[in-house]
Amino acid sequence: MGPKNKVTFTVLGGGGEVGANCFLLTIDGCQILLDCGTHPKKEGLDALPAFPLLARSPHALLVSHGHVDHCGATPYLHRMYPEVYTYATLPTVRIMDRMLHNSVAVMETIARERGVADYPLYDHEDVGFAMRRTHGHEFGVPFILDAPTPISVRFQDAGHVLGSASVLLQTDGHTLFYTGDICETDQELMGGYTPLPPGIEVDTLVIESTHGATNEADVLPYQKEALRLGRRVAEVLHRGGVALIPSFALGRTQEMLNVIARMQEEGIVPHVPVYASGLGRAIYELYARYEGYLGEHANLRPLDQFGRVGNVWERDIVDELMSRPCIIVATSGMMLENTPSALIAERMVAETHHGIFFVGYVDHETLGYKVLHAQPGDRLQFRLGGPATEVRLTNIGRFHFSAHAKRSTLCKLIERVGPRNVVFVHGDPDALEWMQDNVSNGYRHVTPAIGQTISLTE
Ligand SMILES: [Zn+2]
Ligand SMILES: [Zn+2]
Repeated sequence: MGPKNKVTFTVLGGGGEVGANCFLLTIDGCQILLDCGTHPKKEGLDALPAFPLLARSPHALLVSHGHVDHCGATPYLHRMYPEVYTYATLPTVRIMDRMLHNSVAVMETIARERGVADYPLYDHEDVGFAMRRTHGHEFGVPFILDAPTPISVRFQDAGHVLGSASVLLQTDGHTLFYTGDICETDQELMGGYTPLPPGIEVDTLVIESTHGATNEADVLPYQKEALRLGRRVAEVLHRGGVALIPSFALGRTQEMLNVIARMQEEGIVPHVPVYASGLGRAIYELYARYEGYLGEHANLRPLDQFGRVGNVWERDIVDELMSRPCIIVATSGMMLENTPSALIAERMVAETHHGIFFVGYVDHETLGYKVLHAQPGDRLQFRLGGPATEVRLTNIGRFHFSAHAKRSTLCKLIERVGPRNVVFVHGDPDALEWMQDNVSNGYRHVTPAIGQTISLTE
């Protein structure tokens, strides 16, 4: 070990919440950002991390994966500090490019329809500039950051979505491991995370806490939940209906398409056409291009096996989709207004023989939550400024497929890594509380709030 450097950790977002993940690590005056997300529930400048806490340009940004709560503010950062460089895994670089251009389009639509001030936060040119400053690296291969203090970085497979990484950061005197979003169990396509190689002494572990409040006994294993979904889908198809599965574009869409395809091959789900919507298809192409990054068990079907949903703003297109039994996997996962899943559901809820099955997180302030809890006769608005539709459909369900580690796994991970400091981030308050209460004695643990700076070397 070399001389002790002074290392501090400041939360710009994702402290005490899931939020706009962004953490500033200062090592002897050298500033490194871990993730740079936008807040999924906030709009305009409020959706950004607390950038005013940055007194000057960071030396580098390390992005763990392509979900926007981890990378959505990257173009904004690059516009503020053009000299900064961003590092991510090779698949994540390509995923970011698609996700961020899509974010521009989404923000432009919101600005047009609801006049949200400050939107879009950045434009396509900003995304292009940010991507030219973003470098891709392989898992497990260390590289040195261009910073005044030599800092070695290594991405470890986190098993969450394609390209998702945990970040190991080593300097003379301090080693930090940031889990990012991490998953230990096999999904349909992703394999579990790759543990740290033995012999690395970690001083600080920054760990996600998504499932801190989830009682594991209440959640079925992935494959059992898949079977439960498959049976519900089959019921709908046998009745001549359409099954809609709203899904996040990155991760859940590709997983669900392959879950459905496998269950069709196994005879659990009838062989009807399966459709996928735009951004999910664009990301699917990257799953195919980087197939070697998926779990060893993965059997990624060719994308052309799944039909295109088409422009569902046109009612003829939706009518055509509804004309015979089929399965539709469409964004957004929480059925936000004006998205393909909402525009398709608008037509479906007026009839009783279809099925709508949510397969991911549904925030209680979203249209998806209202649909999930709708009673027959309720009237819901699926397009902003559009007319309300009376809900007659009752076959609406919720399934739990997680891409995050169980809380017992998070506890085991802490034990295995054995750090001096444990920093809990990326969780709702009740999740963070459970983690703090259940971490073993012997670790100095903190759950910093946004704006808080903690010293890691005292
Ligand atoms: Zn994620
Ligand atoms: Zn996340």
